[in-house]
Amino acid sequence: MADSDMRNENNSANNNASGSKDFIRKIVEEDLASGKHKDIQTRFPPEPNGYLHIGHAKAICLSFGIAQEYNGKCNLRFDDTNPSKEEDEYVDAIKEDIQWLGFQWDKELFASDYFDQLYDWAVQLIKDGLAYVCDLTGEEIAKTRGDLTSPGTESPYRNRSVEENLDLFTRMKNGEFPDGSKTLRAKIDMASPNLNMRDPVMYRILRATHHRTGDKWCIYPMYDFTHGQCDSIEHITHSLCTLEFENHRPLYNWFCQSLRIYNPRQIEFARLNLSGTVMSKRLLLKLVNTGAVRGWDDPRMPTICGIRRRGYTPESIRNFCKTIGISKVDSCVDMGLLEFHVREHLNAVAPRVMAVLRPLKVTITNWEPGKVDYLDAVNNPERPEDGTRQIPFSGTLYIEQDDFMEEPPKKYFRLAPGKEVRLRWGYFIRCEEVVKDADGNVIELKCSYDPETRGGQAPDGRKVKGTIHWVSAAHAVDGEVRLFPEPLLVKDPETGLADYNPKSEETLTGCKFEPALGTVEPGYRCQFERLGYFCCDRDSTLEKRVFNSTVTLKDTWAKEQKKN
Ligand code: ATP
Ligand code: MG
Repeated sequence: MADSDMRNENNSANNNASGSKDFIRKIVEEDLASGKHKDIQTRFPPEPNGYLHIGHAKAICLSFGIAQEYNGKCNLRFDDTNPSKEEDEYVDAIKEDIQWLGFQWDKELFASDYFDQLYDWAVQLIKDGLAYVCDLTGEEIAKTRGDLTSPGTESPYRNRSVEENLDLFTRMKNGEFPDGSKTLRAKIDMASPNLNMRDPVMYRILRATHHRTGDKWCIYPMYDFTHGQCDSIEHITHSLCTLEFENHRPLYNWFCQSLRIYNPRQIEFARLNLSGTVMSKRLLLKLVNTGAVRGWDDPRMPTICGIRRRGYTPESIRNFCKTIGISKVDSCVDMGLLEFHVREHLNAVAPRVMAVLRPLKVTITNWEPGKVDYLDAVNNPERPEDGTRQIPFSGTLYIEQDDFMEEPPKKYFRLAPGKEVRLRWGYFIRCEEVVKDADGNVIELKCSYDPETRGGQAPDGRKVKGTIHWVSAAHAVDGEVRLFPEPLLVKDPETGLADYNPKSEETLTGCKFEPALGTVEPGYRCQFERLGYFCCDRDSTLEKRVFNSTVTLKDTWAKEQKKN
């Protein structure tokens, strides 16, 4: 997608700027106007079984954003009903990621906080004849559920007496039955056109240590018997979730109504899918477990911590979420749109520095030996208030190998034998001699400089078309740069399944950075002039600096070449 297209998309889909609200905000405003709700209360309900990804950012920006915009509150509720997959490590990471995105929850809650209440409610439904203990195995339940064209068959245990059900459910709780041998099911309608309403399971027996309740329980409530009631207790006014829960909404409402408790309104919206990435926790976990990536925060991962390490800013993610807006229809958003927002924000805020990724030595033949000239460099032309810094210039420099061609084609305005080029913030230099090794590789350029051109202007008005970046050899700091030229996952042409792409990372060693980069902290973001935006990685040491490529600049030379 071209950047200009993105700007258009930005304008048309922006929920706030143009005044056209998405359908969820319209509902919220109607409910406030009609007096249905005085205060807006939302929640974000992650399951602590993995790290948050960019898809979650959409849900976070929506639920937290609405609370913010309408002076309401948003709870963070961990949906922890599945003890075998959940861990405290994930709880901590999720909290860090939400705060990093720029949001703060009102209450921090856990579905497991409500286990006692949920148990009491299950007993209430048994007493009301609306739930029963079933001895069918999971497999048998699935088999007797029917399908979209045929009704299910009723369980032979469906008509147990209330007394028998109460007794069996108490004994389930007390651990008298083996795992999976019984369930508690809602007694609804085995012929319902909605499969979720065909006597869904409310509780299962599972002996697993829960990250919070430990071994207190050996029965655990199912998601459907948990979520609506948690929303109800917290008096959630608008329970926002993704489209796959649309079919669960009748059941959500059935539980609230049968329990005669406040029935929040569930509203579904489309998930975010991004081209070239997969957001399934299962697949991401596999990449982590097989060691294909450095961890959940590998800069190539679509996780929030991964893109943070990569150098993305919270502002750019929030702007991206604003641009894509909210809809009822699943779609796939071009990765280029996210990159556009990152580039746009970093262009505004990131300092410019010079780094040479593939160094070629340049000797200035007419430079006074030992002399160092400190040149003024503007930190960010977009932000004059960021000031200037001084960069050392000396008789031995490095330039980018790509910025020299022995036999340049037309329109190549960089360095070539006999040609003159401007060094950024510095002088004009002319290539006088090319030094090669025994194999014919260019290993050094001998150049002359024009002392009259300090700061990049020639007093005689002589023009040079090209400006290239450089660093002074004696002052440069060393390190490596990690580039991410291809997506982390590619489709295996044979199986059609997403698989790890070993070409997703390229490490360049022997890179040379300007001295200011010698001490910056991990997380520091900057623009390497002419190359792109980069972020200091946490693997960085003072001896070896490590930078991740966040996003490239638009490469005009590559575009030019494609055209020809
Ligand atoms: P995944 O299937 O990727 O593991 P999940 O839905 O199981 O995700 P949860 O922790 O249950 O993950 O999700 C918390 C909230 O985030 C839910 O309300 C869910 O609807 C929402 N969410 C998850 N993935 C996306 C997505 N790709 N786009 C928008 N919202 C999402
Ligand atoms: Mg989920």
